Amino acid sequence: MGSTSTIASTAQPPRVNLLGLSRRQMEQFFLELGEKPFRARQVLQWIHHAGVCEIERMTNLGKALRDRLQHIAEVRPPEIVSQHDSQDGTRKWAIRVDGGGLVETVLIPEGARATLCVSSQVGCALDCSFCSTGKQGFERDLTAAEIIGQLWLAIKSYDAFCSGKGRVVTNVVMMGMGEPLLNFDNVVAAMDLMLEDLAYGISKRRVTLSTSGVVPALDRLAEVSEVSLAVSLHAPNDALRSQLVPINRKYPIAMLLQSCRNYIAAQSDSKRVVTVEYTLLAGVNDQPEHARELAALLRDFPCKINLIPFNTFPDSGYRRPSGNAVSRFWQVLVDAGYIVTVRTTRGDDIDAACGQLVGQVVDRTRRSERHRAAVQTRAMQTG
Ligand code: SAH
Ligand code: SF4
Repeated sequence: MGSTSTIASTAQPPRVNLLGLSRRQMEQFFLELGEKPFRARQVLQWIHHAGVCEIERMTNLGKALRDRLQHIAEVRPPEIVSQHDSQDGTRKWAIRVDGGGLVETVLIPEGARATLCVSSQVGCALDCSFCSTGKQGFERDLTAAEIIGQLWLAIKSYDAFCSGKGRVVTNVVMMGMGEPLLNFDNVVAAMDLMLEDLAYGISKRRVTLSTSGVVPALDRLAEVSEVSLAVSLHAPNDALRSQLVPINRKYPIAMLLQSCRNYIAAQSDSKRVVTVEYTLLAGVNDQPEHARELAALLRDFPCKINLIPFNTFPDSGYRRPSGNAVSRFWQVLVDAGYIVTVRTTRGDDIDAACGQLVGQVVDRTRRSERHRAAVQTRAMQTG
């Protein structure tokens, strides 16, 4: 009994990572400490405007409060393990999160804009047949700090907090590893910080969440968020989509499109559209008849279409269509009156394109980690 209470009194509770707290959560945190809400505003600005993570440097908090905070809180970004720069200016980071998992973040500069592609989970459970992240399986959700930490690290890596260099990240897409709607609360908290003026102040139109179609979560998102929406369709009918995107068996196309319509209808500005993502797989979904069927399916649906020629990875079993096949597909949709863009492959030389994320580098790391774990287990069993 005595020893239990000794342990209980000496064990330190884990420190709260302030990096991942939305404005409301930060205000609540300071309220519970008996502090005024303006403390939350000061700390948000230190972290997300000034890029400061040492509490002792937050000088306008007063010494007593800083001392107190240092015992119960921290500002801890995830750790960069490697950084690669592509010849086209794309920069990719491999980021290690608590527990050893790796995720990737990619910054894609295009003229005046620079888009950061952010991961939401280590791996993904949804197993879309053409996605290397899906092949990896699901490991865990990222925390809000690990999600917003990717934006924080990107800005830090250009030394661009308070530097007068202007914005190094103008747009964010939740299109890295993982299905963002399956990590709902953490993704929403991180996106709140992206939009929050006391943090990054990015406009809601410039933050995009891409989903493979988790309908109930999308319905919930409509109630709490105003970010732009992209939906991974990839097929013009349920039979084909269910093969490529297994979650379609649970939430088929008609249900998904209705949920997207509701999302758009819930927005305060009327002119929003959904980005329909369509990965083109040679000989599978890239024929003119698929394009015609897609054009018919999306008639009256408020959207623009983004075609993504398949990005290859080892043992994928799929091929990228020829340039001609992509043009033919594009033309059918344009003739039908759609706004259609073709996503150019960026950062190809560093494996930074859609669906290639993590691919080889993590596969190798994970495999060797799994191997080490297996060896250790065997050693323990025999030893
Ligand atoms: N999980 C979310 C967001 C991440 S993937 C989603 O599925 O929407 C971002 C986009 O890249 C999705 O449309 C996804 O289907 C597509 N994608 C995945 N693997 C790909 C690959 N190998 N080549 C081209 N696009 C791919
Ligand atoms: Fe997951 Fe998106 Fe990849 Fe599908 S495409 S497995 S939902 S990350």
